[in-house]
Amino acid sequence: MPPAVHHISPDKICGRAKDVIKRLQKAGYEAYLVGGCVRDLLLDRTPKDFDIATSARPEEIRKLFNSCRLIGRRFRLAHIYFGRDYLEVATFRAPHDDNDEGGKVSDEGRIIHDNVYGSLEEDVWRRDFTINALFYNPINGELLDFVGGLDDLRQGKIRLLGDPEKRFREDPVRILRAIRFAAKLGFEIDPHTRAFVTPLGILLEGISSARLFDEIIKLLHCGDGWKTFQLLQEYEILQHLLPLTAESLAEDEEGVFARMLESSLKNTDQRIAEGKSVMPAFLYAVLLWQKVHLVSVAAQLKGYPEMQALHLAATDALRDQVDFTAVPRRYSNITREIWALQARFRHHDLRRANTLLGNPRFRAAYDFLCLRAQAGEPVKEDAEWWTDFQQAAPEERADLCKAVKGSSNQRRRKRRKKSGSNSKPAVPPSE
Ligand code: ATP
Ligand code: MG
Repeated sequence: MPPAVHHISPDKICGRAKDVIKRLQKAGYEAYLVGGCVRDLLLDRTPKDFDIATSARPEEIRKLFNSCRLIGRRFRLAHIYFGRDYLEVATFRAPHDDNDEGGKVSDEGRIIHDNVYGSLEEDVWRRDFTINALFYNPINGELLDFVGGLDDLRQGKIRLLGDPEKRFREDPVRILRAIRFAAKLGFEIDPHTRAFVTPLGILLEGISSARLFDEIIKLLHCGDGWKTFQLLQEYEILQHLLPLTAESLAEDEEGVFARMLESSLKNTDQRIAEGKSVMPAFLYAVLLWQKVHLVSVAAQLKGYPEMQALHLAATDALRDQVDFTAVPRRYSNITREIWALQARFRHHDLRRANTLLGNPRFRAAYDFLCLRAQAGEPVKEDAEWWTDFQQAAPEERADLCKAVKGSSNQRRRKRRKKSGSNSKPAVPPSE
């Protein structure tokens, strides 16, 4: 096969990746850049990472590099460290069935272990999409395309290699990957591949919840989270990943929750574009909010105090979600705090307001409050008050608190007059 003509500019290639490839080749192994980085270089985008594929076995890679660690059981890989960063080096794999040593396939056709090593020509076919199966040798500039990947790149097509049904069954996460690349690259999923996306979506429920957590973060924090989310809905995949979110959307007659999701995901995309940090805990706070909110209001109507009601609702929602995607404690604890602080935004006395301002989660919780207000929840006044309070000089803050005290006393007096003095205050829908 003649090397394909291309225009990858050498200065976009990570120097360390080049050095690792050079060293592997010098030791007599084949070594190439492969996967997403070659795809992105050809599209003139900046690759997220530089993956290397080689004929060297994991143990052989380890012998060549001092800073190498082998990881993974399902898929054994070498990580070569440069300080805290590392490059991923994978040995060429061959297709296999259950009887081959190092390979294991479940009754449903899912690959459980993928450690049967092979040649470059075999490795090409175990990759997911044609556009991810291009190999590039940065030392001599050679690009290898065995599968029509360059054509698909030019036409903007996402096409699974081989029989789409079999390939999705082998690893249902490929369904999510198809959607992510479609959103991120603005590509179309090829009709033969697309036909199996919705019908096989249910297989995602058999994937470990830890792996799905990683995939959800990749999907919604890829920089095109809003587009990705829309595709997940369009292909009816959302209910297999985030069933509480899907249910909330189905019951959201006024569209308040839908608006909140949209502005949150668009904000996140914007932050990523500006190189700012984004928080998985915040994402989950938004995705599960409607459920938490409704359950908490129901508990308050049964007589639970507000804070306790919120905690109960949070525990419920997080427990139900964890059956689908694990949410590591370090994130879910922050998610809980963001929710719990929503109740405290109603207090506008100086001492409590100052304490809240010093809370390490204040910023995230305040952003969350603003999102709710923007979406049309009746918390606009609180959001505005907190915006003013933060911007005010310390000596002006006391006045702001007094002003609210006056107006809320008046409100309370009016309410008492209207409804008689011994009626209980109703729970407002948003609180
Ligand atoms: P990006 O890093 O931009 O998200 P990528 O395509 O590089 O996209 P990685 O997860 O880094 O994605 O994987 C690197 C390569 O490994 C892919 O391009 C693909 O060739 C192969 N690969 C990854 N996951 C799978 C999978 N589930 N099935 C088959 N091949 C896969
Ligand atoms: Mg990659």
